[in-house]
Amino acid sequence: MFDLVIHAPRAIIEGVERAAVIAVEDGAIAGILEPGQTPEARESVTLAADEVLLPGLVDTHVHVNEPGRTEWEGFASATRAAALGGVTTLIDMPLNSIPSTVTVEALETKRAAAAGQTFIDVGFWGGAVPGNVADLRPLHEAGVYGFKCFLLHSGVDEFRHLSPEEMREAQREIGSFGSVLIVHAEDPEVIDASVNAGGPEYGEFLASRPKGAENRAIETVVAGVRETGCRTHILHLSSAEALPIIADARGAGLPLSVETCPHYLSITAEQIQSGATQFKCCPPIREASNQDALWAGLADGLIDIVVTDHSPCTADLKRFDLGDFGLAWGGIAGLQVGLSATWSAARERGVPLTSVVQWMATRPAELMGVAGKGEIAVGNRADFAVFAPEESFVVKIENLRHKNPVSAYAERELHGVVRETWLGGARLNVDAAARGALLRRGEDQ
Ligand SMILES: [Zn+2]
Repeated sequence: MFDLVIHAPRAIIEGVERAAVIAVEDGAIAGILEPGQTPEARESVTLAADEVLLPGLVDTHVHVNEPGRTEWEGFASATRAAALGGVTTLIDMPLNSIPSTVTVEALETKRAAAAGQTFIDVGFWGGAVPGNVADLRPLHEAGVYGFKCFLLHSGVDEFRHLSPEEMREAQREIGSFGSVLIVHAEDPEVIDASVNAGGPEYGEFLASRPKGAENRAIETVVAGVRETGCRTHILHLSSAEALPIIADARGAGLPLSVETCPHYLSITAEQIQSGATQFKCCPPIREASNQDALWAGLADGLIDIVVTDHSPCTADLKRFDLGDFGLAWGGIAGLQVGLSATWSAARERGVPLTSVVQWMATRPAELMGVAGKGEIAVGNRADFAVFAPEESFVVKIENLRHKNPVSAYAERELHGVVRETWLGGARLNVDAAARGALLRRGEDQ
């Protein structure tokens, strides 16, 4: 007798859509049976013909900001939004919270702040900042999934960026114990040399964060990988001009991986109105032709994963009073609608849902070592999203459950409704008790 059986006319299993019967026992997937079989179970669920059972999404790029900037976002609100968006696992970034996650003590502070508040499972990144090389191995042993660094000012003064030499020192250390460095790759000299006029015109802001800044920083990162052999990951790629650099590095066998984000794939610079600072993020959303090239990079396998870089702030910091792209905080909140936004854009381009699931669930879990997640497979956690890909909806800010009512997706019509999310074999109810776990790398669920 199983705890749960889900009869799914459509499920995405090992990269293929097919009918299946999923049996669940003790929160894990115990069997994947052929359609028509009716094993005994305490609970039996039959999905509708327009619903596809997906593995729960794994979002490895989220800024929760608690403790310290809890007014921006928090564990309860972020994980509620995530659950409603089909995300069952997130990895929290080491900065914007206070303390930054740059010591084991700070990690324990964050874990204590998160405990009992998370509706989904949450793991943590560590940070690599000037002077904390000696903290990296203890953080690794304490279960962080890897280490984030910046190559230019991070936006918050307490999380300082690394020089190229400091980055290579961190890579040597991180490579010595087989973890991964994840890099915000924009070059400070190129940015400093670019005019930052401020003001409400998006084109001015875009010119102040040129593709060249990403391209040059990625060259710096690749040089570090070549020298140290450290597994390294490029965060939030926006400049498609950097794809040939990445292709060369991959061709040379370097352990380099790359992510991009739903907003780069679904919004273009041409669509952004004057003063609409809800669209500000760094690196910026670029022009339509660049977006086409990012999609080609995904198709070619040069971009490995699509994760949200959910990075909210309070509404006042977006400076809607002035609509000034120079003064506004940069960051887009995408946890709740990232899947629908990415799928909508994919659908228009004729890209199948199976690819979106690879980029947003299976590959992030594999790449970042999130055990037992990201795929409907026997032995994995019974984490699912029930997704209706052809149903459309209009994003309403009042329906978004992240903390602050700001969204770059407001009033957009998207395809793909997440009807239910399941965590460990139970339906998620974000208005009931939070029962997500805190994850440590290398630990089985
Ligand atoms: Zn980020």
